[in-house]
Amino acid sequence: MPVVGACLALGALLGPCEAAHAADAPGAAAPGAALDVVAAENFYGDVVKQIGGAYVNVTSILSNPDQDPHLFEASPKTARALHHARVVVYNGADYDPWMTKLLGATGGGQRTVIVAADLVGKKAGDNPHLWYDPQTMPTVARAVSAALGAADPAHKSVYDANLATFIGSLKPLDDKVAALRAQYKGLPVTATEPVFGYMSDAIGLDMRNMRFQMATMNDTEASASDIAAFERDLRERRVRVLIYNSQATEAMTRRMLGIAKQSKVPTVSVTETQPAGMNFQHWMLAQLDALQTALAQK
Ligand SMILES: [Zn+2]
Repeated sequence: MPVVGACLALGALLGPCEAAHAADAPGAAAPGAALDVVAAENFYGDVVKQIGGAYVNVTSILSNPDQDPHLFEASPKTARALHHARVVVYNGADYDPWMTKLLGATGGGQRTVIVAADLVGKKAGDNPHLWYDPQTMPTVARAVSAALGAADPAHKSVYDANLATFIGSLKPLDDKVAALRAQYKGLPVTATEPVFGYMSDAIGLDMRNMRFQMATMNDTEASASDIAAFERDLRERRVRVLIYNSQATEAMTRRMLGIAKQSKVPTVSVTETQPAGMNFQHWMLAQLDALQTALAQK
């Protein structure tokens, strides 16, 4: 009875299992029912939705661009969604360590788990904002399509076709990165957090003040000399743009934004969670457009 086993393991998080659970054990979806998929972050959930269409029922756990994802803690609701999932996608590289714990606690029916970090060779300690690397989403999308096709072979041709559409839809994004690279490669920029780091690398920008950025991300205090170096970069306009994470605007970030404004260094806001009403492609393109506008200022 794997259902009972899973429920017992979940007891602490969920309370008593309802009798109804016996009918909807993981892997026991009725023919024709949508596949339950859980994505830890909503941009991965969006990719699943774009590939699975009407045949998937996607739950994204981190979906609020007004919250700091690094401070997130999982709830019983999260555990309940995972209990039913046939496919699970999460970032890894210590961005969402609560997923590892929950997956251990909820047992694995016939569940495929896709970890973006594993697919692109990143680990704990690396910059975890992997979805800003133009290489990541095509790789994740291929793994998602393969997992959906394995869980639901009847619709494999749909998933294959949607994958091809998705990969094709990334072309404007790649073109924009190439255009920015051709024009702005090597320009010095800085950021309050390493959210945009991989994209900045893809464009070839010279990203400064990395130690400060890691301190902000990890909610620790940057050293006095790192803070002074950051301020000097802004005051002396040694950087062309300040990129800031609008999801984590603590006092130090606000202070740097203030200095940038005084010194007339353009600022660009990025988010690490996908805003409502935008798909992944539009979100990334909008941010690149904003960066282009800022870089064009003299
Ligand atoms: Zn972050």
